[in-house]
Amino acid sequence: MNILAIGCHPDDLEILCAGTLARCRKRGDRVFMASVMNGRDGSRTIPPEQLEKVRERELRASAAVIGARVLWPNLAGAHLDEVPGARMAVVELVRAARADVVITHAPECYHPNHRAVSRYVHDAVFTASLPRVRTASPAVEPPPALYWMDTIAGVDFQPTEYVDITATIGIKRRMLLKHRSQFAWLKSHVNMSVVDLMLTQSRFRGFQASVRYAEGFRPALNYPLARTKRLLP
Ligand SMILES: [Zn+2]
Repeated sequence: MNILAIGCHPDDLEILCAGTLARCRKRGDRVFMASVMNGRDGSRTIPPEQLEKVRERELRASAAVIGARVLWPNLAGAHLDEVPGARMAVVELVRAARADVVITHAPECYHPNHRAVSRYVHDAVFTASLPRVRTASPAVEPPPALYWMDTIAGVDFQPTEYVDITATIGIKRRMLLKHRSQFAWLKSHVNMSVVDLMLTQSRFRGFQASVRYAEGFRPALNYPLARTKRLLP
């Protein structure tokens, strides 16, 4: 299958679903990692025009760990809802990956732009299937299945599906470590050690599923395929 994971920022997927993506790669799926926004405002010290290049390199280095392909629409702005073309850019992501399964942020996530991505992707999986809606790539028919991934720190999110990532937690950590530009920023901005957060969250989802490490998901109720067949590893 073609698995497309769409994060808002370049490091979101490594925190929330990279262990599952690594398992998808191991079973032979093609994996695409997309960051809708380029994350150029995520620093106090690195100028935005420099940071967006750094963050693209970091995501590419992370994706290279598992042999995933990167999709980089290179959008920026305080509010994604006010960025022209953002919704159609997300439709094109679904098509460019020829996605069978899409994973993205849950509607409950705390970050306003994570929630915007969640809405856009929910809408895009359907819109991307319509041949008369034009973007650079042709329509994907039928619409792909859609899964919500966990929220940051698991706040307000109750998974219905768990993926055992005990075998890939080391790979997930290596991927997250590629996002060096964020460590000092997240510590000073929200007092968060991002690697500690990822390991703790993977561990407590593991407790819930009776394995060492796990990631939690919920199928979006947009499409029967996600309810009739298990598509995650
Ligand atoms: Zn984010």
